[in-house]
Amino acid sequence: MTEDIDLSLSNHLIREDNQEDLCFAFYKLSTGKRRITALINDIIFPELDDRNIHGNVSFNPDYFDKVTSYALKNKYGIIFIHSHPYPGWQSMSSDDVDAETMLAPRVKAITGLPVVGMTIGSDGTWSARFWEKTASKTYNIQWCESVRVVGYGLKIHYNQNLKPKPKFGKEFSRTISSWGTSKQEDISRMKIGIVGMGSVGSIIAEALLRTGIEDLVFIDFDTIERKNLDRLLAASEGDIGKFKVDFQKNRLHDVNLRKGLTIEALPYSITEKQGLEAALDCDLLFSCVDMPLPRFTLDGISYSNFIPVIDGGIDTNPNSDLSNIDQARWKAHTVGPQRICMQCLGQYTPSDVSLEQSGELDNPTYIKGLPKDHFVNRGENVFGFSLSLAGMEIQQFLSMVLQPKGIYYGPKEMDFNFGNIDFDFENSCVKDCHIKSQTGQGDNFNKILLFDHPSAEKSRNNLQRSITPRTESANADTNLDTESFMKRAIRKLKNLFSDS
Ligand SMILES: [Zn+2]
Ligand SMILES: [Zn+2]
Repeated sequence: MTEDIDLSLSNHLIREDNQEDLCFAFYKLSTGKRRITALINDIIFPELDDRNIHGNVSFNPDYFDKVTSYALKNKYGIIFIHSHPYPGWQSMSSDDVDAETMLAPRVKAITGLPVVGMTIGSDGTWSARFWEKTASKTYNIQWCESVRVVGYGLKIHYNQNLKPKPKFGKEFSRTISSWGTSKQEDISRMKIGIVGMGSVGSIIAEALLRTGIEDLVFIDFDTIERKNLDRLLAASEGDIGKFKVDFQKNRLHDVNLRKGLTIEALPYSITEKQGLEAALDCDLLFSCVDMPLPRFTLDGISYSNFIPVIDGGIDTNPNSDLSNIDQARWKAHTVGPQRICMQCLGQYTPSDVSLEQSGELDNPTYIKGLPKDHFVNRGENVFGFSLSLAGMEIQQFLSMVLQPKGIYYGPKEMDFNFGNIDFDFENSCVKDCHIKSQTGQGDNFNKILLFDHPSAEKSRNNLQRSITPRTESANADTNLDTESFMKRAIRKLKNLFSDS
């Protein structure tokens, strides 16, 4: 849920008279590879005679009718929420089980979706469960692993049974002496994805490992080339030809810092099903890509699935006679619900996205005719700048999860020539922003983010060939026909950008 939703729910549910209270909310689904999330889109608070507050609170049929017709009208799932006068992740009383057992079949019959039960403790801790239909007339509780609250900050409420607190030894004593055990337990239980395992992504991966994150996802279809060796952390000549994600995964495992370390290395694009679904399993994503289409995809993922995305970019220009660098800037920002999106920040434009989709960027004559300030003509990263940008992105992450003294900040930009960090940037979207308008849409919007990716397929096929003679590829049925790919892609983008 967003911080705004969290605030209105806690204002209503946590009562000064210590009585329990209830309400209904509405969700849309976000389906990852292993995780299903209910995204809270809306709430209907009870009016005075909609419920009786008497110890164990109960609701009246009229209220439930109001809720079901609203859910039907908007194709929402239904969440039944109540409060307990105790702190922490709440289990269920037998009355709670009775109430939700009664709701499960009715809600499923009306909406086609499982009812979700949520409880808030007196300290604002959330707990949640899905009621899954497992057989005819049988509904079972499927406890949620965590409840995520996203906005300026990122707060995750963990189910101790499914996500127990990790233990830390002496190797983390210095980190824990900075922010304490409980923050360390919260941070290290997050699942974090890095999209783009180039110079910036590889440094961020290193930083996350050393911060104690145990569950990482790396998404990038590129292989290591000779020209990457001046920028790719720890890569050496013998690593040329390997997938960047595999190389970083193996290297981080060799550090042997966390016994429970899991790294999923995916040689896919974020616009492909395997990449997108893995990203939807994450609590937070780093965008270390520099092209418009993956940026647009990550922008969309963030708003439609409540997954904060930390993005950055480097812009360098050499002198016209290449006698020195003329100027360099790099910027880092966190996008997602209640913050600004990458499009409003100017990180890409819809026409750049369409241009990338059109395939024209593979045409040297077309590239030649583009103006000097076009995004394809931006200078390359150098390791020293990547290091600084990765540092700024890690700061965005730590600031968001730690929020020291309740302080948060928005986008930051480093001016290399003057050595200033500028921070006077907008941190909210324009009024009719169509990325923001997808807030909480989940799978409805995720569908539109999927594209075939011919160069990712080529990269995988090349590597496969170099290892074993390729007989029948798993991708044999995917469409490599560039023309029909372009047509479909442009049609999807036209629809997206025209109807908002
Ligand atoms: Zn209860
Ligand atoms: Zn926006």
